[in-house]
Amino acid sequence: MRTRIVAGNWKMNKTFKEAEKLITEIADALDDIPLDNKEVILCPPYLYLEMAADVAEEANFSVGAQNCYPADCGAYTGETSPVMLQSLHVDYCIIGHSERRKYFNESHEFLARKTDALLKHGICPIFCCGEVLPEREAGNHFDVVKKQLTESLFHLSEEEIGNIVIAYEPVWAIGTGVNATPGQAQEMHAYIRQLVAEKYSPGTAENITILYGGSCNAKNADELFSQKDVDGGLIGGASLKAEDFISIVTSL
Ligand code: PEP
Repeated sequence: MRTRIVAGNWKMNKTFKEAEKLITEIADALDDIPLDNKEVILCPPYLYLEMAADVAEEANFSVGAQNCYPADCGAYTGETSPVMLQSLHVDYCIIGHSERRKYFNESHEFLARKTDALLKHGICPIFCCGEVLPEREAGNHFDVVKKQLTESLFHLSEEEIGNIVIAYEPVWAIGTGVNATPGQAQEMHAYIRQLVAEKYSPGTAENITILYGGSCNAKNADELFSQKDVDGGLIGGASLKAEDFISIVTSL
């Protein structure tokens, strides 16, 4: 059975004190929400991972990082390895976010290496994919997403792909207030699941969690999450306020 997930990507936001307050508020609110086969993941900046992991020990959420470098250790000034994340009990790591593809020129091949490095240390990659607006307008969005998945994930074994979460994030919807329609999200999620079925097996495709990301908020989460192939969301802006984020969690 697929795990349904709501993950909060805080990006480069919050001071330490603000982060502590938000994490505590979310942890307290989660105490009253039955999660069953559902998971809540908080992805604060690196600096706050240890604090988040400490709170998570007694709370109903998991901790994710927003990035990693694909090596165990070494002369990579400023970088953080999956080994380090594992040592802090970080269970997830976002990779392939469009902001990293854009501002840090991350290639498909580099993301394939990050995927391998994370899996080697038992950390689940949350692999982001999605097209920019001109690609959608030109009708190329399916091909773009297929290439992203093929070149960064489809070298994995069937067992390994079972340990990946995919997040479809149309770049034109990220931080814009314009979400994909539930129909657009469902169409792409079904396509991604079909690709996984063709490459691996229908059973593996059925079990893989595919999140939607891009201006998902307390108002539209219900409708987006009710789509057959949408298994939850990767939430940016709306994950920065406890009330909004918790409201999205209750839509799962
Ligand atoms: C994101 O950056 O992963 C994201 C989904 O952002 P937002 O929810 O703010 O559009």
